Amino acid sequence: MRRPVLAANWKMHKTAREAEAFADAFLPRVARIDDVEIVLAPPFTALAALARRLAGSRVALAGQNVNPEKQGAFTGEVSPPMLVEVGCAFCIVGHSERRALYGESDALVAAKARALLEHGIRPIVCVGETLEQREQGRTAAVVGAQLRASLASVPAERAAELVVAYEPVWAIGTGRTATPELAQEVHALIRARLGEQFGAAADRIPIQYGGSVKPENAAGLLAQKDIDGALVGGASLEAESFARIVRAGGAP
Ligand code: PEP
Repeated sequence: MRRPVLAANWKMHKTAREAEAFADAFLPRVARIDDVEIVLAPPFTALAALARRLAGSRVALAGQNVNPEKQGAFTGEVSPPMLVEVGCAFCIVGHSERRALYGESDALVAAKARALLEHGIRPIVCVGETLEQREQGRTAAVVGAQLRASLASVPAERAAELVVAYEPVWAIGTGRTATPELAQEVHALIRARLGEQFGAAADRIPIQYGGSVKPENAAGLLAQKDIDGALVGGASLEAESFARIVRAGGAP
């Protein structure tokens, strides 16, 4: 019912030339996998070059961020129509690095998600608790509140186009991964909250896990009932490493 979505978040890594070299090495490695969605999110400067390399493949392109406005005096920003024109089918919003380093609020994330949907781009909406919040036993409350507020502007009839990424902040880039059981517990909670907000469409929304996913731990995480893919940072920068993670999400 839900196709797993395996997405590479390259953050501020790879020039356009480096992105092309990645595609040349990566595409043959995943050419025969057709039961998952594969997504690459390079920096903005590599989108056009990567789009040309990915043409004719099943690998989709994503932005790492967007401004909700169509155009205007917003120095340094990129709009949804710009992402559409360059070939993005997805865009990450609300990544914890943007929330923590650039002060992005749930309300801004909600505006971005809505703007993306209006332009036919599937938002990958990130939520997740900090270590402190987890240790205080507040994971369910924090993730539930982030989810509700970040998806507040999404019309129910468009909910099936969403992707949600559960990324515990303490697991991002730290090498410390949530166990499959611990991740599944939060994913089940997210699914229940999505059900309260969107009804039956919740069953169609892929929920990715993110946080130090590697070839060695991907299969265990992806085998969980409510884990429908992964958002991968560090381990997506090398073609064979990300291809192995993609294969872990595909049919055995
Ligand atoms: C991320 O940035 O979304 C992420 C999960 O990073 P990493 O895989 O490096 O922990």
